[in-house]
Amino acid sequence: MTTPVDSFADLGLSDSLLKTLADIGYETPSPIQAECIPVLLEGHDLIGMAQTGTGKTAAFALPLMEQIDVKLTKPQALVLTPTRELAIQVAEALQSYAKNLPGFHVLPIYGGQSYTIQLKQLSRGAHIIVGTPGRVMDHLERKTLNLDHLKTMVLDEADEMLRMGFIDDVEWILERTPEKHQTALFSATMPEQIRRVAQKYLVEPREIKIKSATATVAAIRQVYWQVSGMHKLDALTRILEVEEDFDAAIIFVRTKNATVELADKLAARGYAAAALNGDLNQQMRERVIEQLKSGALDIVIATDVAARGIDVPRVSHVVNYDIPYDTEAYVHRIGRTGRAGRTGNAILFVAPREIRMLRTIERATRSPIAPLTLPSRADVTNKRVAGFKEKVAEVLNAEGLDFFANIVAQIAEEQNVGAEEVAAALCQMAQEGKPLQIPGEDPAPARAPTPFGTDSRRPSSFAERERKPRGEERGERPRFEERGDKPRFEDRGDSRPRFEDKPKRAAPSGDMVRYRIDVGRDHGVQVKDIVGAIANEAGIESRFIGRIGLYDESSTVELPAGMPAEAANALKRTRVRGVPINLRPDEGRPDDAGERKFDGERKFKKKPYAER
Ligand code: AMP
Repeated sequence: MTTPVDSFADLGLSDSLLKTLADIGYETPSPIQAECIPVLLEGHDLIGMAQTGTGKTAAFALPLMEQIDVKLTKPQALVLTPTRELAIQVAEALQSYAKNLPGFHVLPIYGGQSYTIQLKQLSRGAHIIVGTPGRVMDHLERKTLNLDHLKTMVLDEADEMLRMGFIDDVEWILERTPEKHQTALFSATMPEQIRRVAQKYLVEPREIKIKSATATVAAIRQVYWQVSGMHKLDALTRILEVEEDFDAAIIFVRTKNATVELADKLAARGYAAAALNGDLNQQMRERVIEQLKSGALDIVIATDVAARGIDVPRVSHVVNYDIPYDTEAYVHRIGRTGRAGRTGNAILFVAPREIRMLRTIERATRSPIAPLTLPSRADVTNKRVAGFKEKVAEVLNAEGLDFFANIVAQIAEEQNVGAEEVAAALCQMAQEGKPLQIPGEDPAPARAPTPFGTDSRRPSSFAERERKPRGEERGERPRFEERGDKPRFEDRGDSRPRFEDKPKRAAPSGDMVRYRIDVGRDHGVQVKDIVGAIANEAGIESRFIGRIGLYDESSTVELPAGMPAEAANALKRTRVRGVPINLRPDEGRPDDAGERKFDGERKFKKKPYAER
């Protein structure tokens, strides 16, 4: 692994936080954590180049927790994230690290949530605010959020904020933060504009980048399953059941708690499975490995550290149940299979948000990882029936069946049925608690996304969200960055209305309705600002947003028909560059008529962004 640091205790974290991490089941810091935590604890500004899946949230969240004075119920840290989903996830992570910090409050504030709730929560006081730029800006303008006590500011997924058109808002916020504070900027890539922001607002930042050392992997079959539509555990058992050549497996998870949980669940489903983690002493560890070698165990669920150096030739499969932190960890993990000249199989579970990490692994290992189609119920049934037939064939070849044949004949006669029916009844009895036909339905293939799909799942409060399973488990749809559909960013700067079909993507299909909004070129608004605001506030994915016509004082935007009232209301109140957009159906004729109509209206005061 990239880092020699094996323990959180070496990073300078307090005993109370170390205890929390042990409770959560974190064994060792991930590479980005090992490098960032000491730097942040020393108070330096930091640029961290890391993506989802590397453990970057804890890399900034743990040092944040150390700085919080719980007695002071004022925002002491502000984390800006591009989306509300991420804001909630980061808030959840912070809350989990506050287990031993009674009285700690973290508040996510994001577009689409009612102001009334947010105002109430803000007035109660929170120590850390995690928010999307637009909503944070609004609260700063309304003076409902005060940053006078701010010690640290974190920009999470800065490149994503740029792509979604929020970078000006981020700068606006940065300009209004107290002079003296620490700033940490995390970004998977470092485009020029992000560099510029870093140069302008960060003071002598330390730059930390996790290397993705290239490594060739042996002849191992590598596949991935994008978590979607089914719980990871169910998917795992289905996959293991139909995998050809399955002999034994090592399954990698992130925490020691997860090793135990998964081992228990697999054991309950009839697998010979055990956990291997840092809590086991050397002797117990060796015992587990011996059992795997001898065949007393078929599955070992391990953390990275505990599985270092395991050499068991019969391991036919490695499953990355949780994605590894970096490419080195991946190479190390999959090296546990394909040993002693045998073929190996590596299966990787990837949550939609982790797709970027998958691509990084592919690049670093210079080997493509093929998508795996989840076995259907019929596949599993076929496999079970084939196994059953094999067993029956073995028995048929054995001697001494006459006694049983006689019993079958007797039953047939007594019940007045044929021998086939008796055999069918015996088959049913012989299922040994594991039905040949698995019950239930196949999950629908990854759900065809609907324009307003995210809305129905949108949490109405942080608390409600906390009770729901995490996005990875639910198989959330890919976010903005994973679809590769970028809005066009350049501004042509002429006076004609500008119509944009975002390039490199199919035009949205289905009925579209044209809406008018009260922001235009005179407000310094660009197409990306409108796309970002609508995507974030109403939960409409950018690819469902149709043509955008940019006029001087207003704009038009095509959105899918059938918008739910909740999304429509959210969009009425949405602001772009501080101006409420007041979205409503456009009554003007397409193109020119719209411009005439709205040119004369001047319903709002012009308030160029730069003057605010
Ligand atoms: P992130 O890359 O920040 O989105 O983190 C991804 C996942 O890794 C989250 O579920 C974290 O709880 C988990 N995680 C982060 N750091 C560690 C660690 N040191 N040990 C175990 N799990 C971790």
